Amino acid sequence: MSRTVFDKPGAKIRIDDISAEPPKGMTREKAAERFATLGTELFALQDAMFGSKVHSVVVVLQGRDGAGKDGTIKHVVGHLNPRGVNVVSFGVPTTEEREHDFLWRVHRHAPRRGEFSIFNRSHYEDVLVVRVHDLAPKALWKERYGHIIDFEELLAEHGTIVLKYFLHITNKEQKERLLEREKDKKTAWKLNPNDWKERDHWDDYTRAYEEAISRTAAPHAPWTIVPANSKWYRNLVIAESIVEALRARRKSWERKLDEMGRGGRAGLDEYRAQIQAKGARKKG
Ligand code: ATP
Repeated sequence: MSRTVFDKPGAKIRIDDISAEPPKGMTREKAAERFATLGTELFALQDAMFGSKVHSVVVVLQGRDGAGKDGTIKHVVGHLNPRGVNVVSFGVPTTEEREHDFLWRVHRHAPRRGEFSIFNRSHYEDVLVVRVHDLAPKALWKERYGHIIDFEELLAEHGTIVLKYFLHITNKEQKERLLEREKDKKTAWKLNPNDWKERDHWDDYTRAYEEAISRTAAPHAPWTIVPANSKWYRNLVIAESIVEALRARRKSWERKLDEMGRGGRAGLDEYRAQIQAKGARKKG
């Protein structure tokens, strides 16, 4: 599996040095087979997490326009039971959102124990688009890295598994995808001149992503740079990464579920014993 994970702050990151392509030897067929197996495992893991109510998951999806955030939600998140999933898209802040601190709109969508929150864009926009377009003074957005670190630490302390993905596509791939959108009636509804305007800021976004990833990478909130030029490989990498993170907690969930099962059974036994005793008293 080819992915670059940052789980400690301070790494020197050069996104342009990281491949956006699947590794040699990986084929669409192999990926499809593995992806199907992972999907089944993901569903079972989610079930155990939902029942045990020990952990929750936040999946942060960041990337440039056309990088595949929506596609990831459709294909990877599509494997989950919708009962325990909340997908939230963060667009330009509304007036109400702007009148609060930048984490307000995000924190209210943090998952309750047992559940997933999928963030299509996130609090990171406040150190990405805001920085690139000077939407806030530098002194303000610079402070936000620290707030984000504290926020994610708080989530983790509460049992939230925070997984952050940068969907890495090349400039050429983005151009092809945007042109493709125009040709296809089914995707033309996504057309937005802004996507082309944003291409003028490609390098500024690269720098902003590099700094955000470097500063906020942590063991409890790792960043994965996902080679995303191939959609099927992107889906596989993200599915594999989520499954790995959940699998590491499975035993603790199973223990909790056993404990809950024993408690439930004991309660039921007690209830039945009381009924029997009542019946015996009536007969007597
Ligand atoms: P996407 O490209 O994510 O599929 P979209 O193009 O359909 O989304 P919306 O979901 O309506 O558009 O909004 C996304 C836009 O909102 C992006 O241009 C993004 O940079 C912007 N945005 C998100 N958060 C902020 C923020 N905190 N401040 C300013 N702009 C933001």
